[in-house]
Amino acid sequence: MRNVIIILVIFIIIFGLQSFNNKKDLSNFNNTNQNIENLIIEEIDPTEIDDWRLTLVNYENKLPDDFKVELSNIDKTRQFDSRAINDLNKMLKDLKKNKIYNVWVQSSYRSIEYQTNLFNNKINTYMKKGKTKEEAENLTLQTINRPGTSEHNLGLAVDFNYVDYNFEKTKGFKWLQENAENYGFILRYKKEKENITKVNYEPWHWRYVGKEHAKKMNELNMCLEEYIEYLKTI
Ligand SMILES: [Zn+2]
Repeated sequence: MRNVIIILVIFIIIFGLQSFNNKKDLSNFNNTNQNIENLIIEEIDPTEIDDWRLTLVNYENKLPDDFKVELSNIDKTRQFDSRAINDLNKMLKDLKKNKIYNVWVQSSYRSIEYQTNLFNNKINTYMKKGKTKEEAENLTLQTINRPGTSEHNLGLAVDFNYVDYNFEKTKGFKWLQENAENYGFILRYKKEKENITKVNYEPWHWRYVGKEHAKKMNELNMCLEEYIEYLKTI
């Protein structure tokens, strides 16, 4: 009987030790998991802006050559990003409701392929006139954006009317300045932001960013470049 008790005590001690070790292993395991989690969190930039409405396209941020977007028709020849077309149509409709009938979309989505052809044809024309490749490219860049660097390639920008500065004097422009944010649109290239956007003031060019962002950007008086930097800090 005594032997049996001694054996039992030994068993209890052995099992006790094993279960203690298991717990230790488990806590190590948990720690390791925690470390992996921390690593993952560190690797993902929490301030990365991942909102299709805020895609930045400019001289520094080029769209990939194979960029594709689902499009819907504004009319027979013009197209816009399908996710935003309802807001654009509503804005155009409400302009008319407010008796402003002389605002129309002149230019909207342009494929990168189309822009590439346009760009290369212009370079070739200059080269045929005796310019070097570099000269021809610089001359071309005065009027045509490098393919992939135009917001029109993105499908979220519209140019109104004759794409000239007279648009600024229209009732439509005034209405857009006051109301476009309610439909998610901003005046993308403002005069006072030329040093940041590197694009001359364009009263005719309006960009979709969504209602919340449009209102916030106007409130803060920030262009898209500034706003994206601002979002990274909050
Ligand atoms: Zn434009």
